[in-house]
Amino acid sequence: MNARELKERRDKRKDQRNQKNAALKHKNCPFCEDKTFFVDYRDTKRLSKFTSEQGRILTRRTSGVCALHQRQLVNAIKHARHLAMLTFVSDMTR
Ligand SMILES: [Zn+2]
Repeated sequence: MNARELKERRDKRKDQRNQKNAALKHKNCPFCEDKTFFVDYRDTKRLSKFTSEQGRILTRRTSGVCALHQRQLVNAIKHARHLAMLTFVSDMTR
């Protein structure tokens, strides 16, 4: 196998990696996509989707929410927790 073939193989692998990363990065903020869907502290059903099984708030990296809505979401979840509409810690954790 010569150097050129090796380089081609390396480039191919690089492309595949970039495609994978692009697919991972492509996450749309559900609040930006649907303009009628806004962050509401009373909507615990939706808010609970942005918390982990243990009751922790998901990061932007995992949920794909934009920075603006993440800030609103965090405040809404904390507000709901204060009103005992959401749990701080789930019953699952020991
Ligand atoms: Zn957004």
